[in-house]
Amino acid sequence: MRAWKKMIVLGVALALALAVMPALAKEEHKGGHAGPHWTYEGNNGPAHWGDLDNAFEACKVGKEQSPIDVPGTAPKSSRKLEIHYQPAPVDLVNNGHTLQMTVAPGSYIVLDGTRYDLVQFHFHTPGENAVAGKTGDMVVHFVHKNAKGALAVIDVRMTAGAANPVVTALWKFFPKKADEKALDKSTVNPAGMLPGSQTFYSFAGSLTTPPCSEGVTWMVMDQTISVDAKDLKTFGQVFGKNARPLQPMGSRKFN
Ligand SMILES: [Zn+2]
Repeated sequence: MRAWKKMIVLGVALALALAVMPALAKEEHKGGHAGPHWTYEGNNGPAHWGDLDNAFEACKVGKEQSPIDVPGTAPKSSRKLEIHYQPAPVDLVNNGHTLQMTVAPGSYIVLDGTRYDLVQFHFHTPGENAVAGKTGDMVVHFVHKNAKGALAVIDVRMTAGAANPVVTALWKFFPKKADEKALDKSTVNPAGMLPGSQTFYSFAGSLTTPPCSEGVTWMVMDQTISVDAKDLKTFGQVFGKNARPLQPMGSRKFN
């Protein structure tokens, strides 16, 4: 091939590569958000989640949906809960809906003799489950999974007041943009976001985000913890309100 022909071939190849690259980047981005786009307000908001995708049907037709308002008269749980959390390195993601921390293996709970590993925790503002109508200003959801894949979530409501050292430590790494991650060798102990008294309400419910899958064991702590108003403001600036409205209790029982 003559030199000028080689130049043309190279040029065409380069132009093609440049043209294809942005398309690939877009596909990757789409891949990060499988399924339809859902939000906390407007046409794709909570009232419409069940219509956005067949896979989201439970959001509309489920009979044991979360969150709920736990009546002040509800009995506290007599289930045996042991919490074994340990420090884990900072591993945060802004997934476009919330700030979520992936927890390194080692932290777990034992509920009535069954071990559930702490997989991740994340936040909502304001809180989601309420006790006697009070959702709090923010909530942390500790998501655990047992060997059979069943989920158990501990809900700790927070109200504005003294800073929570774990929240403040995590917020130093807060990824502000969707799909952004933050990794750091420094560790936080999730136990620092548990209330002093760990009496709770237990009931069956669902994920509070699409696909709203049921079969989730919920444990809502009766006692709240405090969180710095500055940290609340930062979260609000990034996510706005990211709490699903209260769902009907139906015929569920507290256990
Ligand atoms: Zn949640």
